[in-house]
Amino acid sequence: MTHVTIVGGGPGGYEAALVASRLGAEVTLVERDGLGGSTVLTDCVPSKTLIATSDLLTEVGTSAELGVQVPKAVRADLAAVNARVLGLAQAQSDDIAERLAASSITMIDGTATIESAGAVVASTADGDVRVETDAILLATGAHPRVSADAQPDGERILTWEQVYNLQELPEHMIVVGSGVTGAEFASAYNGLGAAVTLVSSRDRVLPGEDIDAANVIEAVFTRRGMTVMGNSRMASVERTGDGVRVTLTDGRTVDGSHCLLAIGSIPNTEGLGLDAVGVELSDQGFIEVDRVSRTNVRGIYAAGDVTGVLMLASVAAQQGRIAMSHLLGDAVHPLDLGKVASNVFTSPEIATVGLSQQQVDESDLQIDVAMLPLASNARAKMQGVHDGFVKIFARRGMGVVVGGVVVAPRASELIHALSLAVSASLTVDQVADAFTVYPSLSGSVAEAARRLHRLG
Ligand SMILES: Cc1cc2nc3c(=O)[nH]c(=O)nc-3n(C[C@H](O)[C@H](O)[C@H](O)COP(=O)(O)OP(=O)(O)OC[C@H]3O[C@@H](n4cnc5c(N)ncnc54)[C@H](O)[C@@H]3O)c2cc1C
Repeated sequence: MTHVTIVGGGPGGYEAALVASRLGAEVTLVERDGLGGSTVLTDCVPSKTLIATSDLLTEVGTSAELGVQVPKAVRADLAAVNARVLGLAQAQSDDIAERLAASSITMIDGTATIESAGAVVASTADGDVRVETDAILLATGAHPRVSADAQPDGERILTWEQVYNLQELPEHMIVVGSGVTGAEFASAYNGLGAAVTLVSSRDRVLPGEDIDAANVIEAVFTRRGMTVMGNSRMASVERTGDGVRVTLTDGRTVDGSHCLLAIGSIPNTEGLGLDAVGVELSDQGFIEVDRVSRTNVRGIYAAGDVTGVLMLASVAAQQGRIAMSHLLGDAVHPLDLGKVASNVFTSPEIATVGLSQQQVDESDLQIDVAMLPLASNARAKMQGVHDGFVKIFARRGMGVVVGGVVVAPRASELIHALSLAVSASLTVDQVADAFTVYPSLSGSVAEAARRLHRLG
């Protein structure tokens, strides 16, 4: 029986553990903080739970248009919201622990160091445990980047892991960083009723996303009273009595009650012992892997954020599953980033799949694009949805769908039709011919596809 040892209990690790166990391996999983990893305990699950409350309040705030009289005092009780967030995260972690136990996976509560390709040492509360193994999967994730001049104190200068200890809604939250994490938290605190300033070193928010989508989000942010500061690079953040001051590199300052740092992630490789076994890292410090999650050292695989391939829970899980299929001789489908669906949980959301506008613009492929604003959709009108669109990219000729963008409330659900189309290489005609409910926002997905029909 093959014995595999997995370091890290996030989706990269625990999904791999389940697959390895199903494929007949003996599995040991070492986790230092809690099962589910950062995904469940500090990052993805907590932030999306917070956003669920924020989305509800945003809807309530705009419901006058639908004829609802809302008293002015509708507000979030942040202590209750955060208690729910943390409770839900812990419950999710417990569920994962139960699933792993039911699959006969040995779990070690400790911090792992790699001794060699055949042995891992876990430092636990009861001393060191040495595990001899046939293969290792490293799925140790990443942690928030901070800077020497912006040190979180857990009270007013915060990383995204620390915001759930807040007992009261910040009066004025300054979010530094306008990537996905920064934009999501800025949107969330704005929806919860805090004054928000978003400090972006780039000329626009969400620089890595579809430009049309980012423009919609920035316009919505501004309309809802958020201050968006473009071309503004943070130099330092300091406490000022009962507040914070963010100083920019050009000398300007922004004062607020709290500051959230969303300036990137650092892979968790320190202390793992990678040097000693010769595992190669990229210039940015991520573990280098191929499309079946192999590192350069035979028998050592890596998955998830520690590889920096694409920092998503779904990609981490897929990399972990692929690694185990490869190790244990099951059919392997190498990772295909061209088909990944992802979502930015702002209000409205941005969901994307397949080729992006930037890839289309930079490639020499012949691609047709259709973009349809939601404003003309009957259901959108009924629901008071004014912002958003559906965009589809299809190969000229056969009309095969190669990518799409949806900006809408719950775009994360609407993108599935386009994800199926990309994954199964459906044509725009096939997407357009499938019935959609009338009235529905998904009708706009079919209509955008219809606009790409070419006479045969
Ligand atoms: C605020 C935020 C929101 C996000 N939202 C989403 C989202 O909505 N959807 C999405 O797909 N992705 C989201 N992500 C990204 C997602 O959280 C990550 O891609 C995902 O956590 C990666 O999973 P992982 O298994 O690689 O690592 P993690 O989930 O970070 O798990 C790694 C685990 O390894 C453990 N570990 C590290 N070193 C050791 C060691 N030496 N010994 C033992 N254990 C160790 C850590 O304690 C940790 O529990 C979000 C990220 C952030 C920051």
